[in-house]
Amino acid sequence: MAPAGWPLPPIMLASAGLHAVALGAAVLVPGAWPWALGAVVLNHAVITGAGLTPRSHLLGPNVTRLPPASVARREIALTIDDGPEPAVTPRVLDLLDAAGQRATFFCIAEKVAAHPALAREIVARGHSIQNHTAKHRHNFSFLGPRGYAAEISRAQDMLTDITGQRPTCFRAPAGLRNPFLAPVLHRLGLSLVSWTRRGFDTRERDPAKVLARLGQGLAAGDILLLHDGNAARTANGEPVVLAVLPPLLAQIQTAQLRAVTLPEGLAA
Ligand SMILES: [Zn+2]
Repeated sequence: MAPAGWPLPPIMLASAGLHAVALGAAVLVPGAWPWALGAVVLNHAVITGAGLTPRSHLLGPNVTRLPPASVARREIALTIDDGPEPAVTPRVLDLLDAAGQRATFFCIAEKVAAHPALAREIVARGHSIQNHTAKHRHNFSFLGPRGYAAEISRAQDMLTDITGQRPTCFRAPAGLRNPFLAPVLHRLGLSLVSWTRRGFDTRERDPAKVLARLGQGLAAGDILLLHDGNAARTANGEPVVLAVLPPLLAQIQTAQLRAVTLPEGLAA
């Protein structure tokens, strides 16, 4: 059951109603069971599809843009996932400093535990570290309520202990999830944050293509996704994020936008 006060998304209410109606029809109406079964199968397909669509709002609250107050301040959010990464993250911090912009790092807690000084430096230099699970498990979208609670609350405790700041935002590995995630996030006081656009920079080796995806229609309120961990390498062997950030930061400046941390951008 969902904990008290959790706003059940309309699709989950509709789904429960559909199951009840289908069961009633199958029992009471002769010959109706194939239709009832078909409706239930279709319903499950829609919910599974929503879980595999990172920007979907069907399974619960999902932040894909900054709120109007932040848009009015001409803010955007750079989010940088899967670190910290000793060979990449310090150079990312230098690029951000040089441009006077801030970012949010969705860190893997076990990597933070392996590189605590680097994590503390991220925070000391004005950026934010948020929860990207303890382990970044590849089967994350198949976990149940207890698996979600364990993986996410363990990361909360590790990140809080090491950085001194308790995360308020969560991002699922690859953005993939299932209906059990939203109640767990609600109970832990975490907001699910996805993105407006991503550059696919863990597999795209051409920085120009990543930049074109991220910068297309660049506007206030955008939440952009890049990676310092698991970064693809350019033909020269350079992590893609390091090639993309300088021109992207220049575009942000030209558009007179300001990159802020998620806690700053999501503040009322
Ligand atoms: Zn990730």
